[in-house]
Amino acid sequence: MKYTLLTPGPTPIPPSVLAKLAEPILHHRTSEFGAYFMEVVERLQRIYLTKNAVLVISSSGTGGMESAVANLVGPGDKTLVASAGAFGDRWGKLLKAYGHSPRMLQVEWGRAVDPDEFEKVLKAEAKGLACVFLTHTDTSTGIVNDLQALSRLVRRHSDALVVVDAVSGLGGEEIRTDAWDLDAVVSASQKGLMNAPGLAFVSVSDKAWSKAERAAGPRFYFDWRSMRDSLPKKETPYTPAVALVVAQAEALRLMEEEGLERIWARTAQLSEFTREKIQGLGFALFAKNPCRVLTAAVVPPSIDGKALVKRLREEYSVSIAGGQLHLMGKIVRLAHMGYIRRPDLERGFEALGDLLQKLSPAASPS
Ligand SMILES: *Cc1c(COP(=O)(O)O)cnc(C)c1O
Repeated sequence: MKYTLLTPGPTPIPPSVLAKLAEPILHHRTSEFGAYFMEVVERLQRIYLTKNAVLVISSSGTGGMESAVANLVGPGDKTLVASAGAFGDRWGKLLKAYGHSPRMLQVEWGRAVDPDEFEKVLKAEAKGLACVFLTHTDTSTGIVNDLQALSRLVRRHSDALVVVDAVSGLGGEEIRTDAWDLDAVVSASQKGLMNAPGLAFVSVSDKAWSKAERAAGPRFYFDWRSMRDSLPKKETPYTPAVALVVAQAEALRLMEEEGLERIWARTAQLSEFTREKIQGLGFALFAKNPCRVLTAAVVPPSIDGKALVKRLREEYSVSIAGGQLHLMGKIVRLAHMGYIRRPDLERGFEALGDLLQKLSPAASPS
């Protein structure tokens, strides 16, 4: 039976990208690999909508986030995290792991960061503020933050860098790195970018580079300066995930062929379809400010959400995500990013409908 992945990472990948992963491995200090590598960098600039260099790191998305903390935050630097879920909280944990004490603006799960509330905190903390950490789409709750508004507020009140986790958002959700003045934007290969897990990407503005030069924190593998110095040679400082880079070039080629704005529009349509379908099955929508790339929905109280996710995978080969932390068993999350298309969602809903009928036959019509 075909396995249907509707999880918000990893996501399914197109056949031509899969085929690239099966090709013989190239040596990474060759012009052949260099051409693939630069293709990835340049195509990513067009997906990020940036003129900045985009670094390609062999790690999952969290490694890209860690690189931002290691390169942009020095000892004693004042930082602010606006968190609307588990991934916003991850910025806070990372900063603490590096010995920093971030100010945390915590938003109730299911809501985006409110720009007015953000502005109040920002005004209070503006003096000496070095970095503000934001999340584009928080995958734990299915919200999207208004990055354009939040970034503008940071600029208005402080000199801080704006650092964004766009791991699940990039590709499917509108983000304009340069127009919105975002200093560092982190993403990864396995969500909207239609590749296998294992690569992180970070765009770095001039302002962020000048901070990265001065930041005194310890860093080695994740040192952006060594990555930048290797770029003119079309190389990475250490052995890159060669197969993933080759496959990423193909996935980005497919994305550019479709067109970024068309992908945004298609993703919005898939999210509308998903919201309608899931509500039709008796689930309420969880996110008050829903993103386009995934849908979070509240499991009806009569149903055990954890068992639902497990049985869907085991009996129907359909993989969806449950809730994280205090939302475990209470919500389900269905992705519609990357290569997830309408037939995949239809298959998922068919299975979900069938399973729900098994779980509560009395409630169903027939
Ligand atoms: C998936 C994800 C990450 C990174 O997760 P990895 O497992 O390290 O790739 C970070 N932020 C968000 C919003 C995500 O969805």
